Amino acid sequence: MSGAQVVVVGAGAAGLGVAAALSELCIDVRLLERDAIGASFRAWPEEMRFITPSFPSNGFGLPDLNAIVPGSSPAVTLDREHPTGADYANYLEAVADHYELDVETGVDVTDVRPASESTDDTPAGVVVDGGATDGFVLETNRGLRRARFVVWAGGQFGAPRQGPFDGAEQCVHNSSVDSWDDYATAGEEFVVVGGFESGIDAAINLLERGCTVTVLDRGYPWAFDHPDPSERLAPYTVERLETLEGADRLSLVGGVEVERIESNDERVTVVATERHPGDAEPRFEPDSDEIGTQRRVTVPTRPVLATGFEPNLGPVADRFPETDGSIELTERDESPTTPGLFLAGPDVEHRGTSFCFIYKFRTRFPVVAETIGERLGVDTDPLEQYRESNVFLEDLSCCEPDDCRC
Ligand SMILES: Cc1cc2nc3c(=O)[nH]c(=O)nc-3n(C[C@H](O)[C@H](O)[C@H](O)COP(=O)(O)OP(=O)(O)OC[C@H]3O[C@@H](n4cnc5c(N)ncnc54)[C@H](O)[C@@H]3O)c2cc1C
Repeated sequence: MSGAQVVVVGAGAAGLGVAAALSELCIDVRLLERDAIGASFRAWPEEMRFITPSFPSNGFGLPDLNAIVPGSSPAVTLDREHPTGADYANYLEAVADHYELDVETGVDVTDVRPASESTDDTPAGVVVDGGATDGFVLETNRGLRRARFVVWAGGQFGAPRQGPFDGAEQCVHNSSVDSWDDYATAGEEFVVVGGFESGIDAAINLLERGCTVTVLDRGYPWAFDHPDPSERLAPYTVERLETLEGADRLSLVGGVEVERIESNDERVTVVATERHPGDAEPRFEPDSDEIGTQRRVTVPTRPVLATGFEPNLGPVADRFPETDGSIELTERDESPTTPGLFLAGPDVEHRGTSFCFIYKFRTRFPVVAETIGERLGVDTDPLEQYRESNVFLEDLSCCEPDDCRC
């Protein structure tokens, strides 16, 4: 059974970013990745691009929004302002090479347990770092691994939200589309369920291929203004919508809840009900007579689900309890029930603020690295560069929803 001071599960943006921060402290860190570096990004639909722009502004203390380490810039590496997923995976590989990160690919982590909970076939006291007797045992398809600390960075892409309504299996989730060129033919009619970033991206791609599209959403994301970029469409997407050719073939239907999918003679009907849009969108107050009214949209194609993703916590799900849909974490992004187990990535949330974008969740990499470094008794000064680059978010008071400066 091989071991490391820290095992990071997942070699995506979060796993590599936190591993790079740990390696700045000369901590022995190994990444376990079931597929390949940046695999989620390589699986994006071919035409999909980053909505957050890349720009080489690092020299002025404003690291490229998509950089996972302060001294890098995807804009420089890729010469792209809005990289594709494949572009970005190339940037991640460059970071892994530069930091000489120890990434073991093809390793699927199926269980993570504190050594103190070990069973007969695993050692009760895992000896790491010359004597500590706690730590973790990880079960994988390639045998057991051990570590003093574990950082879970399994992302969300592996857990697409399939739709909580009957008949959802007749739809296709947008994340499983390889290319819109292979998926759509001019003149076809489509329904897209979900009108936020992925839904509008899907609709635009279908319209660009000469299709007719109806987008259904329980709110009105295409018209919703909010200071937090996690809550509103990116300017990049709004601009694409506004300059779109074929906009007359697009219907944006807000304030409806999809209830079920029916199929009949090779046609599919999406059944939705008018709903109250809620306090967040008072300007879309519907006529009260419409609430509860049924809408039916029938198309000859499989509806596209752009309903987002769930946390992909796999075997550590029970160790990160949830309250009202948010994962509970300590102020150092550690599991409140399992000391030594940390979370990195888009599921990090504090005080109602979601860290779902890379430029948000990267600010927590040095927090995790510093916490682990202090417990291992190493000098954490090398993390100062994160502070100087303004990517070290320690003061969570800025995450209050009404005063969000992060
Ligand atoms: C279509 C799309 C567009 C987006 N656009 C943007 C954008 O413009 N800007 C932005 O900031 N963010 C964007 N995001 C969000 C961003 O891509 C994600 O938040 C980011 O990928 C999260 O990084 P991650 O490292 O947490 O997860 P991932 O990149 O998904 O990496 C997780 C890794 O963990 C591995 N893994 C999972 N489970 C296990 C296991 N049990 N054992 C071993 N390995 C495992 C997976 O194979 C994967 O490689 C977008 C997301 C999507 C889906």
